[in-house]
Order: sequence, then C-alpha cells, then structure tokens
Amino acid sequence: MAKQANLAAGSAYKLRFDSDEQRQMAEAIDELCRRHASPDAVAGWDAEGRYPAEAMRALAEAGWAGLPVPEQHGGSGGSMMDLVVVLRALGRHSLALAQAYYSLWVLGAEAFSRLGDERQQAEWMPRIVAGEALVAFALTEPGAGSDAAALRTAARSSDGGFVVDGQKVFITGAAVADVIVTAVRTQPAGDNPRQGISLLLIDPRAEGVTVRPLSKLGLKALDLCEVFLEDVRVPERDVLGPLDEGWSALRPGLAGERLLLAAICVGATANVLELALEHAGARETFGRPLGHNQLILDKLVEMRLALEAGDLLACRAAVAVDDGRPADVDASLAKLHATREYVTATREGVQIFGGYGYTNEYPVARHYRDAKYLEIGGGASEIQKLIVGRSMGLGA
Ligand SMILES: Cc1cc2nc3c(=O)[nH]c(=O)nc-3n(C[C@H](O)[C@H](O)[C@H](O)COP(=O)(O)OP(=O)(O)OC[C@H]3O[C@@H](n4cnc5c(N)ncnc54)[C@H](O)[C@@H]3O)c2cc1C
Repeated sequence: MAKQANLAAGSAYKLRFDSDEQRQMAEAIDELCRRHASPDAVAGWDAEGRYPAEAMRALAEAGWAGLPVPEQHGGSGGSMMDLVVVLRALGRHSLALAQAYYSLWVLGAEAFSRLGDERQQAEWMPRIVAGEALVAFALTEPGAGSDAAALRTAARSSDGGFVVDGQKVFITGAAVADVIVTAVRTQPAGDNPRQGISLLLIDPRAEGVTVRPLSKLGLKALDLCEVFLEDVRVPERDVLGPLDEGWSALRPGLAGERLLLAAICVGATANVLELALEHAGARETFGRPLGHNQLILDKLVEMRLALEAGDLLACRAAVAVDDGRPADVDASLAKLHATREYVTATREGVQIFGGYGYTNEYPVARHYRDAKYLEIGGGASEIQKLIVGRSMGLGA
C-alpha cells in the first residue's frame, strides 16, 4: 500500500476574506457545489458538452443571481469584493460554472443596472435577480477582436427602429441566452471609430438571427458561438444606453471584468494545487511520496506562490473599485498574472500527475484544456500589457 505523505490538501493556501460574512459566502458556495457541482457532475458536463443548467438553477434558487444586482433593483447589492469571493469559490469547483455565472449573470446585471432605462430595468431586472434571464454579450467580430472598435456590424434606421446586418464571433453563451447585448455601428466609422457605436438588445430567436456553436479546445460546458445577423429588426426601445455612445458606455465595466476573470483563475488554480498536492502525497516513486522530491516540491510551491499573488492582485483591484478609485491598471495586472499562472499551473499539474494527468480520467487534464481561453477572452494578455505599459508612459 502506498505510504500516505504528510501533505495536507486543506492547508494549501489561505484566500483573502474581508469579513466573516465573505467567509460564510464562500462556505455557502462550497456547500451548494458539493451537492450540485460534484467532481462527477463537472466531468459529465465536460464530457457531454452540457450547459450546467441544474447547478445554475440551484445557485439562482439560493439567491446568488441577485448578488451583482443593486438593492434598488431587487438584488442584494454585493460589492466587487463579494463577487471576487463568490467567483473564486465557484472557480474552485467548476471553471465552466464560474464563467457562466460571470458571463450570463454578472455582465448582464451590470449592463442593465447601469445603462438600462426604466422600462428596460422593469422588464429585465426581476428576471436577472431570479436567475431566469441569461444575458450574452456580443462585441467581437471576425475583423474586430483586440481592436474591437473596428466592428462593422451595421444598424441602419428604419421605421422607428433599426435593421441590423453583420456577424459576431466567439460569443459566450449565445446558444442558451435569452438576449444578446450586441455592439453595432449606428454611425459610419469616421476619424474616431469609437464613436457611432450603440448597444442593442437582440433576441437570439428573432428572425434573421442564426447562432452557430463552435467546436473548441476546452470549456466544453459553455458554448462559444458565431452569431449571424441578417436583416434583423430591432425596435428603438431596445437600444441599451446612449445611442452612438456605446463605446464609452462599455468602459466603466472593463476593470470589473478583468479582475473577476482573475478571481475565477485564482479559484481554478487553487483546485489544480489541491489536486496536485493530493496526488503528490499519495503517489510513491523511488520509495517515497512524489511530493517529497524537490523538483516536484518546487512546482507545488511555485503554484502556491503564484496563486496567492494572484489572489492579492484581484482583491486589491476589487477594493479599488469598491472604493471608487481608478482600477484599470490594477485589474489588468491581476488578469495578466492570474491567467498566466493558471495556465502554468495546469501544465505543471499535468506533469505532476504524469501519464494519468494526460487522461480524461483525471480533472487536471480538463484544467489543461480549459485554462488557455482566459489568456485570450476579456482582453488578451498582450492588450493587458499595453494598458500597463501605457500607465508607465510606454507605447502609444
Ligand atoms: C473562450 C472565449 C470567450 C469569449 N467570449 C466573448 C464574448 O462573450 N463576447 C465577445 O464579444 N467576445 C468574446 N471573446 C472574444 C475575445 O474578446 C477576443 O478573442 C479577444 O479580444 C482577442 O481578439 P481576437 O481573437 O480577434 O484576436 P486578435 O485581435 O486577432 O489578436 C491575435 C493575437 O494578437 C495579439 N495582439 C493583437 N493586437 C496586438 C497588439 N497591438 N500588440 C501586441 N499583440 C497584439 C492578441 O493579444 C492575440 O494574442 C471570447 C474569446 C474566447 C476565446
């Protein structure tokens, strides 16, 4: 029988909490995930490419969909730090569940509560609070990714509304969404392509909309779609936020997006570390537990160091947002670091598992496939570096 090593998985890291209340929130998420996002369930969603509907329903029933919604709209008005706590906890159980929570609930709650008019808020906020409205967000196009303002999907005025033609790509959750907040050009791109962009609420089931899920490397439980828009009629009342000023309307949400993606990575990296520690304790090579070999110990310590640094960076950015201080650079640093270190941890995690890590029998293989998108989506790593570089007076 393999000797059990003295490597305690539970003591691997200490995540930051600002209060007992936040600690209790994380414990409540853990408890819910033990019932609705068990390792077997998470493996099943991945193997079948199945959206985690039942776990999202359980989160909604427990009131978690209302966390990002301000109290005046019926939510619980959680702070950015509260969202860090919840996404970190979710990411530790299931990356896909955490990403669905963020992409389909948090983003929508933020957009509708900040930009929606009274009628739009009356229609959508109660459904968002109840977890009954999934909101996808479509900015990227085949010719406009990092340079998103180069978007060409056009909305021309017609009969008191708009007719939309164009194509979006890499849209998370479009196949399950109830509405897609879609960035379109309502004025031709002039000298400043950031002007003349508007956000429209588009029903994915409307005439002229075709949603096509893409086959992809990982994150199999959450769809990633192309969205084709052909003569799609959108009434004027479905403009979200100021007409022609959609680009500026998006800006205030960017720091939140980046730091929350970092928080998801912190949770997911914590899980990789836990899995690797457990294996390094149980697996014996050359007469002793794997984890006691210094080359393996080094990987585990580096993982923990990177994880704790990422946690601090994400929390620092969240506290800045909550205090109303500028957080763009802190959020970019957090995303850059936490995504890179999650990718590194999955590579080293698979290495620690050896051949077992390469099989889909072990969740570390899923982490390895999943992690990469986080260095691309939500503003790729190179773009985060440009933002940080600019803050030091470098680059354009
Ligand atoms: C899993 C996933 C989910 C996504 N979800 C959504 C979503 O829900 N909604 C949405 O609108 N979009 C979404 N995206 C799209 C994402 O935002 C874009 O993929 C991202 O902005 C990069 O754009 P691109 O893929 O066109 O790459 P490109 O812009 O073509 O860039 C290619 C590479 O070059 C680098 N690069 C670009 N410009 C520069 C430069 N000036 N200097 C140095 N390097 C540069 C980039 O960092 C990248 O590594 C998602 C993407 C993924 C992978």
